[in-house]
Amino acid sequence: MSQATAGPAVPTHCPYCALQCAMSLSTPGTASTVPEVAGRDFPTNRGGLCRKGWTSAELLAHPGRLTEPLMRADDGGLRPVSWDAALKRVAAEVRRAQARHGKDAVGVFGGGGLTNEKAYLLGKFARIALGTSRIDYNGRFCMSSAAAAGSRAFGLDRGLPFPVADLAGADTVLLLGSNVAETMPPFVAHLAGARAAGGLIVVDPRRSATAALTDDGAGLHLQPAPHTDLVLLLGLAHVVLAEGLAARDYLAERVAAAAPGEGPEALARSVAPWWPERVQAATGVPATLLRETARRLAHSARTGSCYILTGRGVEQHADGTDTATAAINLALLLGLPGSPRGGYGTLTGQGNGQGGREHGQKSDQLPGYRKITDPAARAHLARVWGVPEASIPGPGLPAVELLASLGKPASEDPVGQKNAGGVRCLFVHGANLVVSAPDATAVRAALRSLDFLVVCDFFLSETAREADLVLPVLQWAEEEGTMTNLEGRVLRRRRAAEPPAGARSELWIMHRLAALLGAPSAFPDDPRAVFEELRAASAGGPADYSGITYERLDAGEALHWPCPAAPEGAGSESAAPEGAGSPGTPRLFLERFAHPDGRARIVPVRPLTPAGAEAGAATPRDPSLFQLATGRLLEHYQSGAQTRRVASLAAARPEASLDIHPASAARLGIADGAWVTVRRAGPTASGPRTGAPEVRCRARLTSEVRPDTVFVPFHFPGTATANRVTEQRTDPISGMPEFKTTSVLVAPLPRD
Ligand code: SF4
Repeated sequence: MSQATAGPAVPTHCPYCALQCAMSLSTPGTASTVPEVAGRDFPTNRGGLCRKGWTSAELLAHPGRLTEPLMRADDGGLRPVSWDAALKRVAAEVRRAQARHGKDAVGVFGGGGLTNEKAYLLGKFARIALGTSRIDYNGRFCMSSAAAAGSRAFGLDRGLPFPVADLAGADTVLLLGSNVAETMPPFVAHLAGARAAGGLIVVDPRRSATAALTDDGAGLHLQPAPHTDLVLLLGLAHVVLAEGLAARDYLAERVAAAAPGEGPEALARSVAPWWPERVQAATGVPATLLRETARRLAHSARTGSCYILTGRGVEQHADGTDTATAAINLALLLGLPGSPRGGYGTLTGQGNGQGGREHGQKSDQLPGYRKITDPAARAHLARVWGVPEASIPGPGLPAVELLASLGKPASEDPVGQKNAGGVRCLFVHGANLVVSAPDATAVRAALRSLDFLVVCDFFLSETAREADLVLPVLQWAEEEGTMTNLEGRVLRRRRAAEPPAGARSELWIMHRLAALLGAPSAFPDDPRAVFEELRAASAGGPADYSGITYERLDAGEALHWPCPAAPEGAGSESAAPEGAGSPGTPRLFLERFAHPDGRARIVPVRPLTPAGAEAGAATPRDPSLFQLATGRLLEHYQSGAQTRRVASLAAARPEASLDIHPASAARLGIADGAWVTVRRAGPTASGPRTGAPEVRCRARLTSEVRPDTVFVPFHFPGTATANRVTEQRTDPISGMPEFKTTSVLVAPLPRD
């Protein structure tokens, strides 16, 4: 890699999580080719970075960077080829697959780390250049259930419908299933007010680093049995209603009068069976603690500032939408959503998890967060793209179903006989499915069954190793673009380093492939030009970016969507160029929700497990049976494809470990540091599935986990891949996989 451009520090944002901490990159005054990272003051991180952010620039000059396309050769190895040969081969494989099996024989799998420009162009590339409906992305594994719940309740979902900085004024924050102290450490500063007031309430089966923040009078830690979080939320709603603590005026003004089975009265009936002592029996959380929590929340909502936030711990369930809905119902009972002093939000995980799902990567959505089945949305996009409306495909398959369709013959096509079979040729952009997808062993086998697999990446990830063709792409600091952070604020990402000579932007790749395939619409390769098209595509949609421009962002304006352009000739009080006018919307729902009547919906939900069976979750009958939760560590990000290559991060956490309670380990004869094997239990929890994949790693004895629970981080490859034992079971509403509750058997593993 050549030296970065000399000059002043370039303001940009971290490549990793959704907090999108602000940083500056500058050319070092040494022989090093690694740009220097400095934290930059910004409302979300106040100059702070975590160790992932501090070391992020090391990957720009990493010796393992891919610098030329690699094609699978006859001997099975990956060999360098020219870009011209690589792209012609892709076009030929697309034509071959679609001629034999139909348009939907080609699929696209995107990522929540792609810039808005790439996410937008990828959706258009799939539907217009490839003509396929089969596109989805790894954000489906991230917060799709909370998004579905938010849309159901409010008519619109945006991770945080208020700025992160609003949390500083909170005296009470209920944080459900989120370990921010490890996943986004600078976020913890925003909880200082709640901690000082003794009002940080963390719900997590683990005594995580975040749960430990409640020590010394800073708050409460509720440690429910695995997958009883929905019951816990029903219990909190029960106490609020039973003790007359609900915000009656708010419910009358801002929540829709009851549709059949919905509304406050239906909610009251649905939570009636969940009195505190029964919830204690189901969850293990003492009834006194449940009452104390409900009273604290209600008091704060009435007299102070109260927020309810959810994360992957409660969302990554096969009933994740209903669990997030239970959290929203509680928030509505307390009068929080749309309040200037409170609210409900979900903490997005991936760097562009928010923007990644607004611009058309999702199987059921068109740019602007529009439904793909909406005739008006289809007509609008047809005009912007200059194509017949009928040529825009309909809904595709959510991620897990898309992956299940790979290589399948027509008889096993999950959508029936509409297509001549499943996907035969797959593009993967910004995802490491072999590590991050549920039931990873089956996913690897499915990828191997494809006729052709193209992976765009900057390292030879575990998924790239399976590819027929690997295309080397640019990293975050090597090109321009925009990201949308967890509060719906659009940010500029800037070029601060020269890329390797042989790497290309995904925009350039799509531009060239669209031309080779004879696409009936333009595919610009300049990020600014793509953003201009995105503005037009999103105009009038729920996530309207039409008033956002690179110029306004470069001028430092804080622009949260929706941010519509000013009407022609309306002028603007800002120094924005023609067409840009709205100040954006940092706070949603202050006056009305996004449903046509302006009111929120309360939709009663119930737990998946039948009433009476829930106590079994806390006391498994088989002593070797546990509930496995997967999650993240401070040092690593997602599949670890990037952070495992940073020496200091890898040295700190070089391998996976199984967190197990000392009492459970003693029962099984497992010593600290001993090797263990983890197998998915059978459907009846009576024994291991024969031939089922297993996870092998060392045990870490810790009382941070409950005796009935084990935890394995999902960042690691090979036999340490936690997702070897997770299942393809998904939430029927959102398509979210069950990552937090897999019944597993743990046993010591003899090693030499
Ligand atoms: Fe900030 Fe997240 Fe980057 Fe850490 S990983 S520096 S919390 S954006």
